[in-house]
Amino acid sequence: MPIFEYTCKHCKKDFEKLVFAGEDKNISCPECKSLEVVKKMSATSFMGNSIGKCATSPSKGFS
Ligand SMILES: [Zn+2]
Repeated sequence: MPIFEYTCKHCKKDFEKLVFAGEDKNISCPECKSLEVVKKMSATSFMGNSIGKCATSPSKGFS
């Protein structure tokens, strides 16, 4: 599934959004509802095993 990362130009919030083909024109910020968001390059959607979990979340299994 195509999950893209966006950054809002207005409030600088980073968020991820599941975007289907042809539906990437009306992405709005979940915080301020601004449509001025910038898509960031991310390989998250191609990993296949990190859906719903941000790649940047801590996953240290060593203790
Ligand atoms: Zn915003």
